[in-house]
Amino acid sequence: MKYNPVTPAIVEKLKQICSDSTVFTDKEKLEPYSHDETPLAQFAHFPEVVVMPTNTEQISKIMQLATENKIPVTPRGAGSGLSGGAIPVYGGIILSLEKMNKILEVDAQNMMVTLEPGVVTNEVNEKIQQQGLFFAGYPMSVETCFIGGNLAENAGGGRAVKYGVTDRYIMGIEVVLPDGKIISLGGKIVKDVTGYNLKQLFIGSEGTLGIITKIIIKLLPLPLAKVDLLVLFKDITDAISIVPKIMTETRIIPTSIEFMDQLSVQSSCEYLNEHLPYQDAGAMLLIEVDGNSQTEVDSQSETIGELCLHHNAQEVYVADNYTTQERVWAVRRNIAEAFKVISPQQSVEDIVVPISEIARMVQEIQKISHKYDILIPCYGHAGDGNLHATLVKNPDHSYQKWLEIEHDALTELYQLVKARGGTISGEHGIGSKRRDYLKMVCSPVEIELMKKIKQAIDPNDIMNPGKIFK
Ligand SMILES: Cc1cc2nc3c(=O)[nH]c(=O)nc-3n(C[C@H](O)[C@H](O)[C@H](O)COP(=O)(O)OP(=O)(O)OC[C@H]3O[C@@H](n4cnc5c(N)ncnc54)[C@H](O)[C@@H]3O)c2cc1C
Repeated sequence: MKYNPVTPAIVEKLKQICSDSTVFTDKEKLEPYSHDETPLAQFAHFPEVVVMPTNTEQISKIMQLATENKIPVTPRGAGSGLSGGAIPVYGGIILSLEKMNKILEVDAQNMMVTLEPGVVTNEVNEKIQQQGLFFAGYPMSVETCFIGGNLAENAGGGRAVKYGVTDRYIMGIEVVLPDGKIISLGGKIVKDVTGYNLKQLFIGSEGTLGIITKIIIKLLPLPLAKVDLLVLFKDITDAISIVPKIMTETRIIPTSIEFMDQLSVQSSCEYLNEHLPYQDAGAMLLIEVDGNSQTEVDSQSETIGELCLHHNAQEVYVADNYTTQERVWAVRRNIAEAFKVISPQQSVEDIVVPISEIARMVQEIQKISHKYDILIPCYGHAGDGNLHATLVKNPDHSYQKWLEIEHDALTELYQLVKARGGTISGEHGIGSKRRDYLKMVCSPVEIELMKKIKQAIDPNDIMNPGKIFK
């Protein structure tokens, strides 16, 4: 084994660095830290100790201790990840950021907010909207995930069609390196071409290069009006085929274009005990437009609604007040949770292809579903070409058969994605779940380069090992 165990002496030192109450080793308390939201039990692994530091200096000392003793450290946000990123696959230390949860400064003049990594993403907008400001990040786990986890995964979400993904808004970060050194990258500046873009390197690095301990985020003016359209279609192909046309034919970039097939909507409604009158449609799109006046968004949503009706939409429902908007978005946000209740054995994918390819991709997914006799419900951020195809174990199959099917079906799915110019993860990351498949979409030269970067920053391989690469 290339790592040393966490001995009682190490636990004692961790308690000296932090405090007794923020370090624990009892099995019962370790259990919640042995998995994230990846719904496959085969990825779970217990840490030897969990430590919850409250400041950067403590983290620096923990990393020095881990380096001296060659102990693996896995940073953890809220544990809402879907690629096994926060699972300590070699045991060692879980470094939980949950106690570093302060919004340090709202700088309205520069339109920036400075935060600790353990702030729940939703709380950012709750805090700043009174000042007419807005953070555009909106992963569907917004009510639980942490902003630090969003950076580490470069999270996408429901507003990426118009606003892009997390990295667009990250102006500055503080990082503790694997040897305990602390660096600050970027700051409250909107332009910076001073040397290599190291800040960008840490964003999306899945906790494998360092621990993000402070974050400066760029804000936008809060849009003053928005309208959501719920557009019903008889079948999946009609719904998904309209997606590229919405932007090319109306010349409007909606905030969101979310896709849900029938099974996804019905499962989520059941889970929420929600009764949408239209939940029996074959498939639906949830389209949001925002802007600075009600007239503007009404006119844009009307144009989009008409286009949909010209292309086989059965109905267009308008949600123009907060309560109705929240109801339909809650259905979308809770699909993943709902599926977990129905079948704990499943593989949630987040493939991404060029927008022009998604209709064909959905047809190919249906063929895989028939071939392997498994359900593959589909939902996701269709406006970004990012689909959550979810492979669900057939209850008639043995667990062994499911493992074989999962591997073969995923290989086939990823081959199709690559052939269509896409890749295997648009937002959930590689983590431990997809590391065996990385070579299907990255060349040997690319992987070698990534490994050299990892080696340069983390020569002892103690920073979240077992992720991204084999
Ligand atoms: C219902 C549901 C819906 C979701 N919807 C979306 C979505 O729409 N878009 C999307 O992108 N994702 C989505 N996700 C996935 C997940 O919520 C995101 O990946 C999120 O960014 C993870 O944040 P977290 O705080 O839970 O991180 P964790 O799961 O705790 O960790 C994720 C990774 O980040 C690393 N990490 C965490 N904090 C730090 C830090 N401070 N420094 C360094 N590394 C760190 C961990 O080591 C791990 O590798 C969804 C998940 C669920 C369960």
